[in-house]
Amino acid sequence: MVLRCLLTSAACAAVVSRGVLDDAVGLLQTSQGADGGTPEERTAEEGTPDKRTTAEGTPEDRVIANYNTLADSRKAGKADAAAHVAAYQSVQDAIGRVETLSHSAHIMSYVTDLEGSPDLHGGGCLYMPSDEAWAQFYRLVEHPYPPLFAELIAHSYFPNCSKKALSGEKRRTECPNGHVMGHDSCVKVNHAGVGHVKGLEVQVFETDRHVGLPSKWKNHINTLWGSWGRGLIMQPLDNLTHRTAQDQADTPTTMKDKCSKSWKLPEVPATKMLVVPTQFVVCTAVPFHKGITRDMLKDQARWMTSAYRGRSTYTKMDFDHEELPQVDMQIEFNLRREDCTPTAGDDCYRIEFVRDEMCAKHAFSKKETAARHNKDPHGLFTIVFVGDDQSGVLGMAEFPQLVMEGNKDLVVRVSILGLRTFSSKNTELHMDTHYDEGDTAVHEAGHALGLYHTFEGGCNLDGDQVKDTHPEALPNFDCSQKNSCGNSDPVHNFMDYSPDTCMSGFTEIQKRRVWCVFENYRPHLFHKSLKVEEDNAASVSEPAAAAASEESVGAPAVTVDEPDVSPSEGGATEVHVHVHIHKD
Ligand SMILES: [Zn+2]
Repeated sequence: MVLRCLLTSAACAAVVSRGVLDDAVGLLQTSQGADGGTPEERTAEEGTPDKRTTAEGTPEDRVIANYNTLADSRKAGKADAAAHVAAYQSVQDAIGRVETLSHSAHIMSYVTDLEGSPDLHGGGCLYMPSDEAWAQFYRLVEHPYPPLFAELIAHSYFPNCSKKALSGEKRRTECPNGHVMGHDSCVKVNHAGVGHVKGLEVQVFETDRHVGLPSKWKNHINTLWGSWGRGLIMQPLDNLTHRTAQDQADTPTTMKDKCSKSWKLPEVPATKMLVVPTQFVVCTAVPFHKGITRDMLKDQARWMTSAYRGRSTYTKMDFDHEELPQVDMQIEFNLRREDCTPTAGDDCYRIEFVRDEMCAKHAFSKKETAARHNKDPHGLFTIVFVGDDQSGVLGMAEFPQLVMEGNKDLVVRVSILGLRTFSSKNTELHMDTHYDEGDTAVHEAGHALGLYHTFEGGCNLDGDQVKDTHPEALPNFDCSQKNSCGNSDPVHNFMDYSPDTCMSGFTEIQKRRVWCVFENYRPHLFHKSLKVEEDNAASVSEPAAAAASEESVGAPAVTVDEPDVSPSEGGATEVHVHVHIHKD
């Protein structure tokens, strides 16, 4: 275990000087290395005190500076690119020695290889949030678009430890000793360690809230959560709600529902299949969005079905010693209209392009702009693709166990940056392709069918109310092995935030929970979707909901290694005949 280097801790004395221990903010002004310059020199570098150097700054001051990125370094040559990576590695090592900065170390690792990863100068100060601060952040921002973490670093790194971030954004200076200005209030600071860049030190600080949020996330939080959300950023709060459950702000996310006793949920009969009538709506800010075609949307629907049938392709890693969970959920997503004839062509598919600038830009922070395109909330599973997202979010969805069936808010929202093949087909836009396979829609549909994140509740065993997923402290953005809660993190599960190539499938109990939630909370759509193989209908067991509501004392808990094979209610032996109902 590594001790956190607190300002008042004697353990820090070997790392930094006593003057630094007394006042972290003082360090920003007085204890720079040889080329850091005096405070006066650094002020002079920033120019004469005109409107651009006022404490508050003007909107123009917030223009992002033209800092160098890894892409620039790669153009300059291999040595520059290697120096970029070495700088990140050194800083990451310093962060990694602090137990409560484990997620910030993960974020640094993720940002290192991004094209937009900002070059770090030696002789600066970096402010990284504690794990608790990250946990708060993820409660407010569902599925943040990961490449924006590069911008977060640029907002959190201060060359020469001056008041101006690498991004060009200026920090107000009215905070007391031991604090710096964060999102919109003073943030407590602890010195955490020292990294080295080109022979110069980088002072790393742990903060109890974020210092450098990208503007899209700031605006998203302010719009979606208002003063309540800002309050969360300012003050740690326990038992917060899921970020998509805005209307349930005073109710813990993982409130118990009819399907919470996951170890008692019955097996889904092999004779049953849910073929969900699905509608895709694309909100665009221009009449026609040239980057999205109907074929891409049909391909996305096929990909979702493939994922829910347990047929996803994924990258097997060296640390994958066991067969990964990849169950057949017996769920398919059907874009074809029921009254379709073989020659109907594109009219056959429930795909709609709508020009709606508010929806295209703000659907994640103003869900009503997406909900107004949910024409049949009882009879259709609707996904709105957000064409010009300004929230910095990949996707959001409402939980059916929290929103009454028939409510138009029961709509899945997915950024086109998460639409299958959008980023890789539009190479001129130079977009990140890690979330390009189409798994964002699979993940968000998982929420819309009742699943929580695998990191819900942190290391709490029942955080996601699914017994056969290992708990994990915080989300993962890469495909490396971690053991954040004692067992391997479920980085391959669709309900984590891993890159699409990493995601492999759902577990058996996630399947049972989805069937239970769907039947109990969206019964109209459930029964419209349900297909039963006639020849074997007699062997079908009781519906999941009925069995789950019963107290079956003594039923064994389900684990990864030993799936539940308990007999059905009454002890009768069930015969499950696996029948492939769907024809592609
Ligand atoms: Zn999610």
